[in-house]
Amino acid sequence: MKDSKNRKQGKRTRSRSPSAKALDAEIAALRRDAAAPGLIAGIHNYCDRWCERCPLTARCTVFRTEERRQAARDGAPDDTANEQFWNELVLSFSAVVRMIRRDAKKRGIDLDSPELQAETERADQKRRRAAARSGSALFKAASAYRKAGHELLRALPTALADTEQALVTESRLGIGRPDATAAALRDALDVVQWYLFFIEVKLRRAVQGAVDERQLHLEDLPRDSDGSAKIALMAIDRSLAAWARLREHFAAEHGDAILDLLVQLERLRRAAETKFPAAREFKRPGFD
Ligand code: SF4
Repeated sequence: MKDSKNRKQGKRTRSRSPSAKALDAEIAALRRDAAAPGLIAGIHNYCDRWCERCPLTARCTVFRTEERRQAARDGAPDDTANEQFWNELVLSFSAVVRMIRRDAKKRGIDLDSPELQAETERADQKRRRAAARSGSALFKAASAYRKAGHELLRALPTALADTEQALVTESRLGIGRPDATAAALRDALDVVQWYLFFIEVKLRRAVQGAVDERQLHLEDLPRDSDGSAKIALMAIDRSLAAWARLREHFAAEHGDAILDLLVQLERLRRAAETKFPAAREFKRPGFD
């Protein structure tokens, strides 16, 4: 997408604080998005956020909201679209804060109370420490995979250039199936790249969720932590398959390194399944 490319190039523009009128309009638009017929509540909580490949975009509020914003940016000159993008982020954040403040006020909660803020800070620190203890082995394995995967992806371009050259030659000679091979390689690379950071993020969320559920005695309900663990496990499964496919193509130069990574990822899969034994059975709204 044009505007995402420019954002990556660092063309950040100034953003203004939204007016109360703009915030109320955004809150109304968010409510309209959420009230559209056919939507599946909570579908975005356990997806992989890969909207381009999602079969349920028509039933997702998050997608609907993003489409609305994209439509407003489409056709605008680059700088204007960039400015709109950053302003939208400020607007979304401020609208959510405004909604929370209104709800809290209705319930008689003063969010600015120093006592409440100190208590929230203490509770957050306690939660984070408990999650760090509970998930330390898993976090270590997930972050090791992320770093090793990142390194390997950085090393692949030379091998990719060689493969591209070989496929061009096949195409010229009319041998093999160069188009299908190129597509399969692209897909495999897309998969490992998409999930490289996602796995660790979702496993962290799962561990934190499990700690919260224990503290709040919510273990008997369908567990949000299992939902996060399930999508992390699915991402691991897909990454395993994709790395295996890449290994077939890059065996000569990177076969051993990819094998090491596959072993690392397989260990991570087992560790995640041990920590979240019910995760695979979790029913994700809309998907399962
Ligand atoms: S459910 Fe699908 S459309 Fe919605 S955020 Fe997730 S991937 Fe995107």
